[in-house]
Amino acid sequence: MSYDFDLFVIGGGSGGVRCARIAAGLGAKVGIAEARFWGGTCVNVGCVPKKLMVMAAEYGNTAADASGFGWGIMPTEHNWQALIEAKNVEIGRLNSIYSRLLAGSGVAEFNAFARFTGPHTLDVGGQIVTAERIVIATGGKPAAPEFPGGEHCIISDDAFFLPERPKRVALLGGGYIAVEFAGVFAGLGSEVDLIMRQTLPLRGFDEDLRTGLAEALTANGVRLHGGSAVVKVTAEGAVKTIHLANGETIQADLVFAALGRTAAVGGLGLESAGVALNDKGAVAVGDLGVTNIAHIYAIGDVTDRLNLTPVAIAEGHSLAEALYGKGPRKWDLDRVATAVFSIPPLATVGLTEDEAATRGPVDIYVSRFTPMRHTLSGRVRKTMMKLVVDQASQRVVGAHMIGEDAPEIIQGLSIAINAGATKGDFDRTVGIHPTAAEEFVTMRTRTRVAGVLAAE
Ligand code: NDP
Repeated sequence: MSYDFDLFVIGGGSGGVRCARIAAGLGAKVGIAEARFWGGTCVNVGCVPKKLMVMAAEYGNTAADASGFGWGIMPTEHNWQALIEAKNVEIGRLNSIYSRLLAGSGVAEFNAFARFTGPHTLDVGGQIVTAERIVIATGGKPAAPEFPGGEHCIISDDAFFLPERPKRVALLGGGYIAVEFAGVFAGLGSEVDLIMRQTLPLRGFDEDLRTGLAEALTANGVRLHGGSAVVKVTAEGAVKTIHLANGETIQADLVFAALGRTAAVGGLGLESAGVALNDKGAVAVGDLGVTNIAHIYAIGDVTDRLNLTPVAIAEGHSLAEALYGKGPRKWDLDRVATAVFSIPPLATVGLTEDEAATRGPVDIYVSRFTPMRHTLSGRVRKTMMKLVVDQASQRVVGAHMIGEDAPEIIQGLSIAINAGATKGDFDRTVGIHPTAAEEFVTMRTRTRVAGVLAAE
């Protein structure tokens, strides 16, 4: 049977676009559909605009810090509309780059919603197209709050287009999005309450990072409400009230629910193709993203595995090469570095202390210090760096940092850690002085031993 396309990709986010472009470059006839915006969540309502907003918040902090260095400048009231307009222009530029890249690689673009009408057939905005293989790359969407009054909350998609900056913001959740926007709003001058059901933010991250982040948030003026369950949100005029299970109430002008994301599978007609979901409601996949239907694949957040843009890109690229090239490109998805753009940011690669300790004894090296800039700025902001070293092999199995430039530093270290560097390799490396990063190669005194030996 002949099809309209060799490969059809549903979803024009980072993963889908990469998959389509690489497949087309390898000679496949490729189509791609995107109903909302090219570049997907990351470019439009995620990583990119978020980081621009974090930068805006940090400019205010930096201006305030400059007086410690002799500059007579102090930040004035922040112009929210100017930031949003400038951000929108930049995102528009990125959208058109995505679209141009696709056109340049010969991919047929459909600005429409695509849904399955059969295993090889899609209705793309009313047009029926057929494809030998289909890739689902529709990403995720913010989870809607389930408590009464959820309609009074905004989600991250809304936060990028607020007409004005609210004076009082309550963030619900203690994950990536909540802590990043806590930094944005606090840095731009809002009062911020962060309400989370754990006692510390970022469950799953190394405990020293979580503690360091809680201290940093508090130093930035964010009020933390750990161990708090939201019962309901009520609204009276413009004022919202968050009612907690312990009886406490918190008032805010804006309630921002950042309670995780779910796979975007609604309306795709997966049942028409027989594609199965897993127990999390995400598309169930095996190696290379193959679903239970041999010619249908899924990549990125719609599979709800490691929900990070570079991972979706790696999956899309690998799949295209596996199908139309010389076999899949290999990525090591066990030790993917990740960063949280809180203020200051944090970044991590490899195992946490607790994870490593379950596998055997580990040597832990921790360094906490005031970064050079803040010796003069007077700002209360600490840097923490940590290495987790497998005692038997002396391999560095985890590196964690909170502090300025943490994502830039950990990106470099992740190469060494993925290459299997030992603590001896770190120790033999001569540092760059004066930097914060040199601390990673000068930590000589073990802070503690964790794991089996420590328990004995
Ligand atoms: P996360 O999964 O990171 O965090 C969700 C938060 O909501 C957790 O603190 C969770 O608590 C809490 N939560 C979930 N359900 C409830 C509930 N019913 N009541 C109270 N609290 C609840 O989600 P985010 O929305 O912050 O981010 C989504 C994903 O997007 C991230 O996991 C990440 O993959 C990606 N992302 C990546 C970024 C980056 O790379 N810098 C930036 C932003 C997002 P608990 O811990 O108890 O489950």
